[in-house]
Amino acid sequence: MSKIDILSIRKQFPILHQKVNGKPLVYFDNAATAQKPLSVIVALNTYYTRDNANIHRAAHTLAARSTEMFEDTRKTIQAFINAREVEECIFTKGVTESINLVAQTWGRKFLQAGDEVIITSMEHHSNIVPWQMICEEKGTILKIIPINDAGELLMDEYEKLLSPKTKMVACVWVSNALGTINPVKEIIEKAHAVGAKVLLDGAQACSHLDVDVQVLDCDFLAISSHKLYGPTGVGVLYGKRELLEAMPPYQGGGEMIKEVSFERTTYNDIPYKFEAGTPNIADVIAFKYALDFVNELGKENIRNHENELLHYLVNGLLTLNETNVMSSGVETHKQIKLIGTAKEKVSVQSFIIEGMHHFDVGMMLDARGIAVRTGHHCTQPLMNCLGLDGTVRASFSVYNTKEEIDVLVEAVKSIIKRK
Ligand code: PMP
Repeated sequence: MSKIDILSIRKQFPILHQKVNGKPLVYFDNAATAQKPLSVIVALNTYYTRDNANIHRAAHTLAARSTEMFEDTRKTIQAFINAREVEECIFTKGVTESINLVAQTWGRKFLQAGDEVIITSMEHHSNIVPWQMICEEKGTILKIIPINDAGELLMDEYEKLLSPKTKMVACVWVSNALGTINPVKEIIEKAHAVGAKVLLDGAQACSHLDVDVQVLDCDFLAISSHKLYGPTGVGVLYGKRELLEAMPPYQGGGEMIKEVSFERTTYNDIPYKFEAGTPNIADVIAFKYALDFVNELGKENIRNHENELLHYLVNGLLTLNETNVMSSGVETHKQIKLIGTAKEKVSVQSFIIEGMHHFDVGMMLDARGIAVRTGHHCTQPLMNCLGLDGTVRASFSVYNTKEEIDVLVEAVKSIIKRK
């Protein structure tokens, strides 16, 4: 049993308490973005009504206050992922920018023609396209780890791809389309054994799983605030100090310099070397409140609650299939197929309904107040591997309930009736 006080948690999320299309909102699109607790919303409001000033530069009180709060979030994220040093945490716009930063700086400096970068079949486009771009520029080869029917990586095939030519393994920790938790510790150890670096896409992992970059020994980790109950437009790139120091800057401008003359510019130390221009100050400050929210609940409690929800949904959907066949001897309903049935999973479940387009299912659910994701989930190559053009995806957060899943299962039941 989970130790979550669901009523008190739901009270902290004002957005959940509304009707959509005349029905109570059931928000099951958490893998796209999580809703924000009041503490985050209030922090944004407070910042702009009391503290707003540009950071790091001016001598005045508001600037000092803003700078302190901004840097406080950096300390909080350092502790959240157990980075050795606070300077190893760089603020970005999100996972997409974090990965582009590594591809465009580390990749531009360290990749050569004939080198190899390995990714997996289940990557989000943001961990495919940046590598394609730099590989094309450098003549580097992109290799792909295949998956089995359950949506698990074929680790034997991964081992076959590894060689001294491998310079980077860029891997999603948790798949947004399938929910699969990849064995990243093993992936990292094997990559390091051939001298390759590892970047983890932590977009989906960080809200569910314990994160310790020192235990994992990953070289880079990309994080998005908005998947972690924080504001959009904020992310973090964690990188090991020696790598970040060896990388050229990403963008030029204010803040990332030590001294500028028309002849020559010297660059700032990390993390500022990678934070050109005025950052997203308010949202970074509010992100701390999202991290505090997660810390107060505890990842284990969150995970237990979400896993209960996942199993409840899977049972509910599979029971619909069984009862349909058993009651009449013939199938009286369209069958539901679960997509993504890995042994190690987070609370994300994709499915399709035979003979129905996922988008139509999504619209029918929306008419009942249920928000799910439909489509390719920014994983078109994965959909191609699975022979699908898209799925319906329900993804759960700590504020979701079994009663809401009953609403979804009842809705699916009425949708699958054969006409
Ligand atoms: N990777 C994964 C696995 C994701 O789920 C997402 C967001 N859908 C991203 C990367 C991109 O994150 P962002 O849009 O926050 O940059």
